[in-house]
Amino acid sequence: MLENQKKDVGLYGFTGCNGDQLTIIHSEDKLLDFWQSVHIKSFSLAKSDNDDSDLDIALVEGSISNQEQAEHMKEIRKRSKKLIAIGNCACYGGVQAMELGSKGWDQRFRKVYGDAFFELRTPIESKPIDVFVDVDFYIPGCPINADQFFYCFAHLIQDHVPTIPDHPVCAECRWRENDCLLLKGILCLGPLTASGCNAVCPSHNLPCLGCWGPVEEANVSSEFNLLKEKGLTQEEIKRRFRMHNGSGIIKPLKKILGVL
Ligand code: SF4
Ligand code: SF4
Repeated sequence: MLENQKKDVGLYGFTGCNGDQLTIIHSEDKLLDFWQSVHIKSFSLAKSDNDDSDLDIALVEGSISNQEQAEHMKEIRKRSKKLIAIGNCACYGGVQAMELGSKGWDQRFRKVYGDAFFELRTPIESKPIDVFVDVDFYIPGCPINADQFFYCFAHLIQDHVPTIPDHPVCAECRWRENDCLLLKGILCLGPLTASGCNAVCPSHNLPCLGCWGPVEEANVSSEFNLLKEKGLTQEEIKRRFRMHNGSGIIKPLKKILGVL
């Protein structure tokens, strides 16, 4: 690509483990092409001469957990033509947005931090980034899958909209000819979870925990009822549903079942 046609790109991380940025950094075989195909204006995990210039594409990982992050997120949105959420925390809020427990956020927060005084940050309930700004595209995963990320990135820098699978993990699991864990009464979230990981957990006899986030049109009530039939308690099911799916699954749970 000619130098003057290259997009200006920034990568940012909010609350999370940095696993999505690390997935990119650890893709050594693709890193040179990635770096040379665009102008990387900001990538604090990988370079020190970052700037706050206008961007064609901002890639954002992590959820928003304090007022200062919310302001920074809005500032990035203002100077970016496209905003892409990468990873479960940015897309759905991650484990820090699971709203576990029946009490409100203030009480849950106090239970962990007591009356601690936060001098530099003003904590708020952790939420995915689209609660604060418009998001143009979502690349899910915990962390993202490198192949899926670079496929999407190659499309985005050429102003094409990538397509990512809209079927559940179960489809990939069946293609791999695994025995179904759910039918054995094991709490697997494959039917509710977007695919893209090649069903890696059930292929190793481990249930899917939902880390890719909810698949479009996930039939939450059907899986909920099936798990209850298998003898799992409502509390066990709710806890597992919320683990990685944050507000992505809490909304349909509230709507369909009214069980929070
Ligand atoms: S093991 Fe899990 S992911 Fe695989 S088919 Fe059964 S429910 Fe779906
Ligand atoms: S099988 Fe489920 S928990 Fe495992 S990586 Fe895939 S989406 Fe995540």
